[in-house]
Amino acid sequence: MISHRMIKMTEGGSAIRAMFEEGNRLAALYGRENVYDFSLGNPNIPAPEKIRSEILSIAGNTDPMALHGYMPNAGYPFVRKAVAESLNSRFGGAFGEDNIIMTVGAAGGLNIVLKTLLNPGDEVLTFAPYFLEYGNYVSNFDGVLKAVPAPAERGFQPDAEALFAAVTEKTKAVIINNPNNPTGVVYSEDTVRALAAALGRAQEKFGNPIYIIADEPYRELCYDGAAVPWLPGFYDNTIVCYSWSKSLSLPGERIGYVAISPKAEDAGLIFSAAVIANRILGFVNAPALQQRLVAACLEEKTDVAAYDANRRALYNGLTQAGFQCVYPSGAFYMWVKTPEEDRAFTQRAKKYNILLVPGSSFACPGYVRIAYCVSHDMIIRSLPAFRKLAEEYGLTK
Ligand code: PLP
Repeated sequence: MISHRMIKMTEGGSAIRAMFEEGNRLAALYGRENVYDFSLGNPNIPAPEKIRSEILSIAGNTDPMALHGYMPNAGYPFVRKAVAESLNSRFGGAFGEDNIIMTVGAAGGLNIVLKTLLNPGDEVLTFAPYFLEYGNYVSNFDGVLKAVPAPAERGFQPDAEALFAAVTEKTKAVIINNPNNPTGVVYSEDTVRALAAALGRAQEKFGNPIYIIADEPYRELCYDGAAVPWLPGFYDNTIVCYSWSKSLSLPGERIGYVAISPKAEDAGLIFSAAVIANRILGFVNAPALQQRLVAACLEEKTDVAAYDANRRALYNGLTQAGFQCVYPSGAFYMWVKTPEEDRAFTQRAKKYNILLVPGSSFACPGYVRIAYCVSHDMIIRSLPAFRKLAEEYGLTK
């Protein structure tokens, strides 16, 4: 018999994955071109050309033993050094190779950081709506995730005073996901400054370090000049979890890093413990070829303009149909208010072969998430279907 905890997991499932499976089922029935699958944040833009050429060059020119062998659990020193130097030159700071651990994506990074920090019963705060896997990651280490609403009235920007009020003596960390999945909101510099000040006060009040875990796989995906404030510049006790899943369209390759601010309390100890966590959680080290690849491609960028074109077309089409949407400044998600209960709305959308993820799957009912990392053509083709859906609710003017 499997564990009680995993029984619960198998019963719970993932609404996002379920929608993705539903998309495949509908595509088999109606043809792929007639199904508008907006469920998964799987980037549709191909990785930059340099990714392919570097893979070939690395595979052709590196000694096979060195290419495929074990390495330090933190990752290749030359790769960690390159990442640290890149961070220092972009954001200032004094990151060194012993502040960087190469990880199996942001998910791997979050798990090793949580394993490093949490004692059973410790609390981790985050802002709702949020990526629901956080609950699983925190409970992996017997921690307790608590969500503080980032309310619609504030444009889904977190409220520092609400954060302060939620901190208890058990609070060990706060996960801040910027740009946010699912809203596409970029938390502004004012927001970040206020959050950092509130946590500073909370640390003084309780006399313990409270770490910010900055989950930033969407950092490079910003529009209209928006930029993600660099949290280590605002708050010393910061640990950044980054990945190239979205920024270079490499989600299946599982490559990212954890950057521990050199100014964080116990930075050295956190590094040593997180390296062990990387090993004993079974990651051992991030994939070797991918580490070499990203080190050679630190300056590469994805085609943000293509996501931007999708963002504009979808926003215009949906608002003209009568839907209320958040105009996103980052990531590749549109957050749309639902005219009825969100799960009922996603069921109704399926009638038009539109697949969406209900806001309940992000701890924020009353909305749906549309992942617009799809072909522009699909967005344009889907708009008449969205219009028909809006008409059912009498939204169309
Ligand atoms: N954090 C957020 C907010 C995400 O949306 C995702 C993936 O969708 C992850 C973490 C995990 O990213 P990775 O593929 O790098 O593990």
